[in-house]
Amino acid sequence: MKALQSWIPIPANSDFTPENLPFGIFSTTSKSARAGIAIGEHIIDLSELHRAGLINQVPSEVLLSKALNELIACGKKNTSALRLRVQQLVTAENNELQAHPNLQDILVKQSIATMHMPVNVGDYTDFYSSIDHATNMGKMFRDPENALLPNWKHIPVGYHGRASSIRVSGFKFHRPMGQLKPADAEVPVFAPSKLMDFELETAFIIGKNSNLGERISTEQADDYIFGMVLFNDWSARDIQSWEYVPLGPFLAKNFASVVSPWIVTLDALEPFRVEGYKQEPKVQPYLEYSGNKNVDIHLEVSIKPEHGEETIVSRSNYKYMYWTMEQQLAHHTVNGCNMNVGDMLASGTISGPDEGSYGSMMEITWRGTKPVKMNDGSERKFINDGDTVIIRGNCEKDGVRVGFGECSSTLLSAIAF
Ligand code: CA
Repeated sequence: MKALQSWIPIPANSDFTPENLPFGIFSTTSKSARAGIAIGEHIIDLSELHRAGLINQVPSEVLLSKALNELIACGKKNTSALRLRVQQLVTAENNELQAHPNLQDILVKQSIATMHMPVNVGDYTDFYSSIDHATNMGKMFRDPENALLPNWKHIPVGYHGRASSIRVSGFKFHRPMGQLKPADAEVPVFAPSKLMDFELETAFIIGKNSNLGERISTEQADDYIFGMVLFNDWSARDIQSWEYVPLGPFLAKNFASVVSPWIVTLDALEPFRVEGYKQEPKVQPYLEYSGNKNVDIHLEVSIKPEHGEETIVSRSNYKYMYWTMEQQLAHHTVNGCNMNVGDMLASGTISGPDEGSYGSMMEITWRGTKPVKMNDGSERKFINDGDTVIIRGNCEKDGVRVGFGECSSTLLSAIAF
């Protein structure tokens, strides 16, 4: 690959190169929420681009919608063609947009834009597909010798989450209250969670409806995946450990999940595909797949105290996933469960094999027994009031970079009631 050159200035190490061109929803003081494509430090206003007669792959009204669902529902054939046309318009040799009289209306600085939820999420599912994360959790909560439960290598384990509380990067929320049972107490207490944690995840967004009763095979799966975002599945570990038996996570997980605003398309991620995890024992035939289906996405998590500088607490990679997106989708629909455009399917916490690559404070500090040293001299076992947690992610190969920007959110102090 040779990096594409653009006439739009692209800062060094920008996530938003001409090879990327992710979709999002933005507004400014003079523009209502609408669809855009990020490039460098700018956003291309797709509605204005359509009005200028430079794109025609989708109807103009879907570009002024407050969510990308209708645009995505136009189908990959059209959205891929739209993205490739935008790529053509921004490359150095092309002056159709560069010389267009409406350029000022089309190119918007990201610094004056507000980003919104990219899609209306109808349904949200969270998997548990990183073998290192599942092993670490099993060691801490159950049996160090038999950390993985017997089903784990046969089923991409997951649960149905709560779509209503998914918010876009920049979200601030109060420490949740709930029932906690200290280990030495007979009965639970009602109090603010003391063990607030992030979960480093990605999520993929469904790009095509399936019918109830229909399956999506691993081979068909990529047709149904529009793209990916970074995802922080905030978790209250003390609420979780008291409530999760026997039906799994409930109030420990449904108060806030946060996504990065730009959906990086599967098309843009294709060059960064790598071989999947070697799966032993052999999986059921409906979970078999061919080709390179993992993706080499460098991921990192920082904690920024209210008045302090950031400290990176984890460097992981999406390629460590045991189960691929294609297998997750095939499994999710094998019983006929239907998918809708905009549904979000999250990976589960993505931990790597080394201590520096764990995807939650639970694992990084090993349940609080090994606190993290912050750059400002303070220590963290879990997340403090005022802390901002920032997830970043990008792919790099042969001088080409495709990134996700930031997924940032801030924990505020509890409101007692
Ligand atoms: Ca999770």
